[in-house]
Amino acid sequence: MNEIKGISITRDASLKNLNTYKIESKAKYLARVQTLPGLVDLLKYIKTHQLNYFILGAGSNIIVDVYFDGVIIKLDGLNNIKVDKNLITCEAGAMMGSLACTSMNNNLTGLEWAINIPGTLGGSIIGNAGAYNKEIFDSLISIKILDENLKIKELKKEDISYSYRHTSLQDKPLIILEATFQLEPGNKEESLALVKDRQERRRATQPLDMPSAGSVFRNPPHDHAGRLIEAAGLKGKQIGGAMVSKKHANFIVNTGTATSNDIKNLIKLVHAQVKEQFNVDLVLEQNIIDWK
Ligand SMILES: Cc1cc2nc3c(=O)[nH]c(=O)nc-3n(C[C@H](O)[C@H](O)[C@H](O)COP(=O)(O)OP(=O)(O)OC[C@H]3O[C@@H](n4cnc5c(N)ncnc54)[C@H](O)[C@@H]3O)c2cc1C
Repeated sequence: MNEIKGISITRDASLKNLNTYKIESKAKYLARVQTLPGLVDLLKYIKTHQLNYFILGAGSNIIVDVYFDGVIIKLDGLNNIKVDKNLITCEAGAMMGSLACTSMNNNLTGLEWAINIPGTLGGSIIGNAGAYNKEIFDSLISIKILDENLKIKELKKEDISYSYRHTSLQDKPLIILEATFQLEPGNKEESLALVKDRQERRRATQPLDMPSAGSVFRNPPHDHAGRLIEAAGLKGKQIGGAMVSKKHANFIVNTGTATSNDIKNLIKLVHAQVKEQFNVDLVLEQNIIDWK
């Protein structure tokens, strides 16, 4: 694998700094992709040698397992962002904050909400990330993917079904390569003022000083998961190193030593308590990764 051009490989790699919960986890191989031909060659190698693989974005929406006996693929090097009038094309490994900044710097509006998402474009498309009543599919035109036969395909927005924090892309073994958005003419100063205001509100209401993966559960219709969890008396509830945040009840934070089991057990407990007390079945927003 080391000979594949456009890829750098680390053996027995720690994933602790590659997931925002900062859970201790290891992978047999970590492949950092610099070029698209490199990614295709890597996937051919993986197929030939029948290895497992997992595409990792910024690890900000997942609860990783302890050990992955395969290749973790990071698309860090595929992070180009191109602007053509009011169209922006962004590669999968780019961070959402960079995409939002690029759009504002070009006096375009529609992606300001994305500045606070600590994830990549790829992870955000797959899960239909959003905030402030906006979501990534709002201004999306099309995406490029690598399908299971290693063919590059373009999918129009109309070809994809999507809903709140869910897309049909999650059901297939495909890799998002890039996405194109159509934005409206905007005003940089106005966009920056909006973003500043929202950032201050987030800092005031969310535990951004502790490792987490953002909201644990989706908001149920006409309600807030955080309100229900707080009303169930679970703020500050702890299992091992995982704790329901005292600042925002829909966040679980790593107090320092949380394992993936601590987090999963706390999620189960919160789910059961809210169901018992309010008869609401909270749906998980984060992805539990089971590599066994
Ligand atoms: C403090 C904090 C605040 C947050 N606030 C929000 C918020 O306001 N709104 C919101 O929606 N989310 C929020 N999140 C959650 C998270 O940032 C988003 O869900 C983000 O879009 C996940 O992107 P990622 O790159 O980290 O994906 P990861 O967590 O790395 O991966 C998620 C899934 O996507 C898959 N994936 C990643 N890249 C690709 C690709 N190129 N092709 C195919 N599959 C891929 C992975 O295999 C995995 O299944 C927050 C998280 C944190 C820590």
